[in-house]
Amino acid sequence: MIELEEAQDHVLERVSPLPPVEVPLSEASGLVLAADVLAGESVPPFANTAMDGFAVVAADTVGAPVELEVIATIAAGSSRLPVVGRGQAARIMTGAPMPPGADAVVMVERTTYDPSASRVEIEVEVPVGNSVREAGEDVMPGDLVFAKGTLLRPGHVGVLASIGVTTPLAHPRPRVGVVSTGDELVDGGGPLRPGQIRDSNRLTLLGLVRDSGFEGVDLGLVPDSEQAITEAFRAGAQSCDAIISSGGVSMGAFDYVKVVLDRIADMRWMQIAIKPAKPFAFGLMGSTPFFGLPGNPVSSMVSFELFARPALRKMAGHSRLHRPMLPATTTSLLAHGDDGKTHFVRMAGGPDDNGRWIVASAGGQGSHQLTAMARADALAVLPPGVSVEAGGECRIIPLI
Ligand code: AMP
Ligand code: MG
Repeated sequence: MIELEEAQDHVLERVSPLPPVEVPLSEASGLVLAADVLAGESVPPFANTAMDGFAVVAADTVGAPVELEVIATIAAGSSRLPVVGRGQAARIMTGAPMPPGADAVVMVERTTYDPSASRVEIEVEVPVGNSVREAGEDVMPGDLVFAKGTLLRPGHVGVLASIGVTTPLAHPRPRVGVVSTGDELVDGGGPLRPGQIRDSNRLTLLGLVRDSGFEGVDLGLVPDSEQAITEAFRAGAQSCDAIISSGGVSMGAFDYVKVVLDRIADMRWMQIAIKPAKPFAFGLMGSTPFFGLPGNPVSSMVSFELFARPALRKMAGHSRLHRPMLPATTTSLLAHGDDGKTHFVRMAGGPDDNGRWIVASAGGQGSHQLTAMARADALAVLPPGVSVEAGGECRIIPLI
């Protein structure tokens, strides 16, 4: 058996960020920038008013209340601007450009407008620049807006839109093929023949892939046959950036996944000192990373979390690869004999009002008992031989 960190490092050393592409801005949220973004224009692009009100010469408001002549109305988007002279004002709407001559805005609530006389009474004295948003207050041309490596969230996309960037250079979302292997597996809801079970891993793993921000590609259900496995894996490597299989990587007599991968890929077969998810295989088919996850449903999910997700995040250009670990209080006794393995215990719970996680066992902890994994909000990490009393502190990896 090898240590968890050795297996994780092995995988991470062998995957690289996908080559950057120019992506349409509408699809950029969730991707990682592959180049610095420098602003080519200012935001706002011109001085404009932050309020609906009247654009004035600030000096005219000294000694308010004062009455001014209203010479025009300026809407947002307007390009024909009057020159505002001494004793004059222009009605102006939020976002409209400041007219030349005016240097301040008085909000409409502090004015009384008489349209028939084209006059406005200004109730307050305002300083130069009052309620004016100057050009470039948010972004100036040449500013480093976002650095390479930034994860683009919706706000970032908004800023890029505001400076006219339409196709940022980013690492694409890895396309991840997911395939199930096993003669006992069937799809769908029909009756089960003796010995058959339903394929659950494929949908689960496709869901994990998508929830992690990657593109999931369903490569189907493949029987335990060398030829079928070879064809499915080859086709997957053609169309995907990475492949995830489940099943067939342990010590069984019909584990043809092993036979096939040893022929068509450069694989390392690992037994890792963890429970669940001890068997795991990783390698490259040509240049396509291949993750051979164990077949037991809980093991395949834990294996995805510990090995595939961090590696796929690296391919997507992320720098933070692993989920954070947090301290938590367990209300269940977490006990296990010292089998030399780190145990990942399925726990339900969440943060209390102080933000402290409180967790309890999510149910049956067998690697075939998917229900507890489905209900789990976190995995408690118990190093070899470590037990925790009910009410004691443990370390957890939140999954939500
Ligand atoms: P294997 O790794 O192929 O020896 O499979 C280990 C266990 O996981 C066996 O009980 C399989 O029936 C089960 N298993 C394998 N693949 C799947 C799957 N896609 N969905 C549900 N159970 C599976
Ligand atoms: Mg099998």
